[in-house]
Amino acid sequence: MSDCLFCRMVAGEIPADVVHQTDRVIAFRDINPQAPTHVLVIPKEHHRNLGALATADAGLLSEVVLAARDVARQEGLVDDGGVEPGYRVVTNTGPQAGQSVDHLHLHVLGGRGLGWPPG
Ligand code: 5GP
Repeated sequence: MSDCLFCRMVAGEIPADVVHQTDRVIAFRDINPQAPTHVLVIPKEHHRNLGALATADAGLLSEVVLAARDVARQEGLVDDGGVEPGYRVVTNTGPQAGQSVDHLHLHVLGGRGLGWPPG
């Protein structure tokens, strides 16, 4: 979609600090990080939110989730040996949840203690 910020980043029209990508998924650092690691993982194809992608292509949703796991591992947040610092994966859906870009994105956050419940 030409008016979608993240589609424009996928197309290379807007620069992105890409940390991971596959044929169908791309992950880049958030421009306004809320933690030492704050990476956005998105399908390259436009889907407006989690439910839309789950309905349209559950296989692609699985690829997005696996990419979030790969980013966390790459960022040193996962230790397959047992002890791990941990990380959080969040997706905001709709205005009340604070979704500001209508292209599905998983926030991968870590590198500091994360409070619960979120604000
Ligand atoms: P949301 O508010 O929809 O859950 O998350 C959107 C995220 O996109 C925000 O965390 C915001 O900082 C990030 N963002 C907005 N514009 C840009 C941009 O131009 N580049 C990058 N890398 N992130 C952006």
